[in-house]
Amino acid sequence: SKGQPAEAVRALVEAGQRSFGESRLQEASLKQEALADLGPLDWHFIGHLQANKVRPVLQRFGTIHSIDSLPLAERTARIAAEEGLAPQVLLQVKLRDDPTKGGFSRAGLLEAWPQLQRLAPLRITGLMTMAPVGLGAAEREPLFAGCAGLARDLGLSELSMGMSGDWPEAARAGSTWVRIGSALFGSRT
Ligand SMILES: *Cc1c(COP(=O)(O)O)cnc(C)c1O
Repeated sequence: SKGQPAEAVRALVEAGQRSFGESRLQEASLKQEALADLGPLDWHFIGHLQANKVRPVLQRFGTIHSIDSLPLAERTARIAAEEGLAPQVLLQVKLRDDPTKGGFSRAGLLEAWPQLQRLAPLRITGLMTMAPVGLGAAEREPLFAGCAGLARDLGLSELSMGMSGDWPEAARAGSTWVRIGSALFGSRT
């Protein structure tokens, strides 16, 4: 729902959708306030998480899809403990070179994994990935399948993969959370 007005979110809630993804704290906060009368919704943070935004993001989102380094995970765990929160966390991985995105490499994730597992109160349930722009469908599907294999090796059940332009390949590879914006809402403002 990033880039979409609160009223567009309201219309989807009325149609039965409860989970929404936002990338910017400020924008999300205003929308959450405007929709407070709907009761609790399931808010997912999917954007780059800056260190100085961790506390307010934890206060407003039950799930974070974009933990992309061990220091950020450690910081998030410490602040979650201070806040008495146990957020669901997905670790963002980058399985192909892509200078526009962050994320653990496969080797980096395997190396950090023993420390990540000890980071109570984080509930690390899965991996998130994005295909580099310009990759064709035939190359995206093995990329998503590689992410699914890595999650399986780590015993993680959730996979956040697939956007408006590539969700069919992600779904075939086993995605459990497709992050669909423009295909549902129309183009962003
Ligand atoms: C904006 C965004 C989406 C949705 O993108 P669409 O192409 O509009 O479906 C999915 N994931 C992330 C991380 C995003 O920032």
